[in-house]
Formats: sequence, structure tokens, C-alpha cells
Amino acid sequence: MRMETFIRKALRLKAHTVVKVEEDEAAGGRVVYLDRLGHRRLRCGPCGLEAKRVAPTRRPRRRGRDLAMREHLVELRYAPYRVWCRGCGLRVERVPWAGQWQRVTHALARAVAGLARVLEWTSVAAHFRLNWKTVATIVEGTVLWGLGHRHWYPLHVIGIDEVSRRKGQQYLTIVYDLDRSRVVWVGRDRTTATMERFFGWLGPRRARPIRTVCCDMWAVYIDAVRTHLRRATIIFDRFHVTQHLNRAVDDVRRQTWRQMQGREKAEFKRTRFLWLTNPENLQRDERTRLSALLQLNSPIVKAYLLKEDLRRFWHYRSSAWAEGHLRQWLWRAAHSRLAPFKKFARMLRTHLDGVLAWTRIRVTNGALEGDEQQGEDHQPSRPMGYRTAS
Ligand SMILES: [Zn+2]
Repeated sequence: MRMETFIRKALRLKAHTVVKVEEDEAAGGRVVYLDRLGHRRLRCGPCGLEAKRVAPTRRPRRRGRDLAMREHLVELRYAPYRVWCRGCGLRVERVPWAGQWQRVTHALARAVAGLARVLEWTSVAAHFRLNWKTVATIVEGTVLWGLGHRHWYPLHVIGIDEVSRRKGQQYLTIVYDLDRSRVVWVGRDRTTATMERFFGWLGPRRARPIRTVCCDMWAVYIDAVRTHLRRATIIFDRFHVTQHLNRAVDDVRRQTWRQMQGREKAEFKRTRFLWLTNPENLQRDERTRLSALLQLNSPIVKAYLLKEDLRRFWHYRSSAWAEGHLRQWLWRAAHSRLAPFKKFARMLRTHLDGVLAWTRIRVTNGALEGDEQQGEDHQPSRPMGYRTAS
């Protein structure tokens, strides 16, 4: 089969055709030029109806990415027509290979979304040689599309989480159905507008059965949940609480490091992992190193012991004991003379209800593809899905 024929079939072209295929050696890919086939009728972009007339407007050329052919990247180039539609008026035509305004073909979008389910999004981006934002956009579009086309299960426990490329660069808010460990919704940013879009999309009828929401102590999420789900209990995700705690430990570690000198400083080098990892996940020699470090008379040791002590909170069976332990811990942290811990304790105190909710309902958000903070914080592997109290 000629390459042109193959591409025509793969893209399901009817009113369009492949004009030529060029090798682009510099980019290591192939460029496929498309055009309208004769005078075949074109369709209206928004409604899909056949349009009677093509408008003689200027046609800027668009580029789109398609699935690679073996190791070659494939780029499509086409200048869409504007058509007169009976219902919509003057509109850009619909093309069969890609959604409107999409810079990737349906086929590539499906492949990306499929892989994004099992791989980190950054790995997916590297695999398809796309940038991370494009992958995010594809996944967003695909998830939303998929929802309209499958059976809807009532939501009872949801998780709201964010994915960021790097610290401070937020892109997406993800809503999970924690009963089914499934993504329900993905939206840009993590702002009030994001949450309004989610609840607007969900609608009051589908929001009603939601009883529990697991999220980070992020005011925007909290406010949105309180506004739209008055009866739901908010739980602050254990993973996020631990992440904030680890940040406090790390702040103390950095301060300690700055005050050290000479040999002491050399020995303290590359100990971040030891302070932040749960001791049961350390190798034998790492544990030996850690116990030596714990002999230091230094604020970092105090921070470490506080961190380890707070971990007990998550394991209490009795709510009363858990609460007692937490309150005592908060007092100690507030009087620890460690600024990062005082700050962390204040945050927990402000959100105490949501933290204590854990003692009654044990849910936590699942692992999130693309959450690079996981690696940054040396967090021991995050469990997939969620766990209920046994
Ligand atoms: Zn139309």
C-alpha cells in the first residue's frame, strides 16, 4: 500500500485526501499534507451537518500531531476551510481525524490517554515526544468524553487532588471516585473556577449521594465542598498531612545544615533521605547511620522524634485515644521552638475536624500519576487506591 493510501485509510478520510508526504530529516519525522478532495461536501465544525457552501476566506495552515510510524514522528498539515452552515452560520469545518482546536489526532489522543492510566504523565509525554501540558489536555478531554459514554455509578466517597509539574506549578485538579479507584473528572488549575466547573458539570442530583470528601488542606477545595456538599464530611488526606510534616522536618534539616561547620557538616551531608523515610523502610546500614545521627544534640533530632511520634496518630483504633494523642502532640509541637513545626501545628489546629475525621472514616487519596512531589519528598511508596479501616 502506498504511504498516502495508508494514511488516508488510517485517518478515515472521505472528503479529504493526502496531497504529499515529506520526510523531515531535521525533525526526524514525516510531514503529511492534507487537502480537500475535489468538491466533496465539508461538514460544519460545531454541528457536523454537511455544509452547502465553502466560504472564500483566508485559510491559515494548522499543524497537528498524529501517532508515530515506527520511530518517525508524524505531523499533519492542513488549512481548514470555513463553511456556511444552515444552523450555525459561518464556521470552521469539521475534520474526521481530530477534534476542533485539538493539536493531536483522535488516534494519538486515545493512545496517550491509555498509557497515562498506567504511567506517570511525564513518562507518557516523553514517550510520545509531546509536552506535559499537551498530555494533560488530552487526558482531560478523554476523561470528560468517556464519562458521557458509560454507565454512571453514584458517588459516595470522592477524593480531590492536584497534579503539578513542579512545586508551585499547578495544572490540574483530579476528582476520584474512591470506592472504585477511578478518575471521575479532571480540570485545569486548582482555583475556585475549577471547582465551580466541577460542581456545575456534576449537578446537584449527582452530588447528593456524596458523603465523604478526601482532600488537602487547601482553602479553595474546602470552601467549594462546604458550599456544594453541605452534608459531606471532609477528611484531610493522610498523604498530604504527611507531606506537610515532612516539609517541616526538611526545613529544620536545612537550618541545621546551615549552622554546621567543618567535619560535622561533611557527615551531615546527604542525610535528607534518612530523616524523611520511615525507619522500617531503611536498609540495615542506613539505620545504623540514622542511629548515629540521632545522638546529635540538635534541633533536627527533636524534629525527627516529633515526626515519628505523629505517625502513631494514624494507627490508633480508638478515636478518643487518637484525639488525645494528637492534641498532646500539637501542644508539644507548638512549644518545640522549631518555627516550621509551630507553623505546621497551627495549620493542623485550624483544620482539626478534618484531621480527626480520619479516626472515624479511613480513606486516603490514591497514588497519582505524574505527582512528582512524591519523589521530591522521598515519600515511601504511596499505596494505590484507598484503604478502609478493618
Ligand atoms: Zn452547523
